[in-house]
Amino acid sequence: MPRPVSYNVKVKPLESDISMAEMPEGHMGEGFFATSFDKVIGLARKNSIWPLPFATSCCGIEFMATMGAHYDLGRFGAERVGFSPRQCDLLMIMGTIAKKMGPVVKQVYLQMAEPRWVIAVGACASSGGIFDTYSVLQGIDQIIPVDVYVPGCAPRPEAILDGFMRIQDLVGKESLRRRNSERYKELLESYGIQ
Ligand code: SF4
Repeated sequence: MPRPVSYNVKVKPLESDISMAEMPEGHMGEGFFATSFDKVIGLARKNSIWPLPFATSCCGIEFMATMGAHYDLGRFGAERVGFSPRQCDLLMIMGTIAKKMGPVVKQVYLQMAEPRWVIAVGACASSGGIFDTYSVLQGIDQIIPVDVYVPGCAPRPEAILDGFMRIQDLVGKESLRRRNSERYKELLESYGIQ
């Protein structure tokens, strides 16, 4: 006699799985919607971020969970993970960065085209973590500018998602002129980047 087979799958109504991108601020009337160019570009960019995961140790495992079906970074339009800096716009540093690895991290950052953003995931990338030693970089912001720091050792996937959503906020609100501003150039120059 065949054994009954059961699947642990809940069938949800299709509509509940579809989420719409939020409409930017603007003016709406009958048959028209007007907003600024910055906001439209921001809306497109924030929902199509291509991450470059630079994972050197345990925090990288949490990122694997973040990409898995349960947490699914793809829900935020970021499922296209790339390992080519030229095509990616979000550098995610996850793990302990030894001082010898620092120039490699910087090289990857330099190879990314503007606009680019950086997340330091976990205590090691943010501050060196528990490795207060001669060989470990005490935070990647010593070599490249960081936009968002995710705390934790290791941070749970929820924390990584939270950090990613903060990057989305920054991306969505960033002025198109920011990258040409004197302030931004000064920031890069403070890291020795032209
Ligand atoms: S922060 Fe903790 S979990 Fe993450 S790489 Fe460092 S030691 Fe590992």
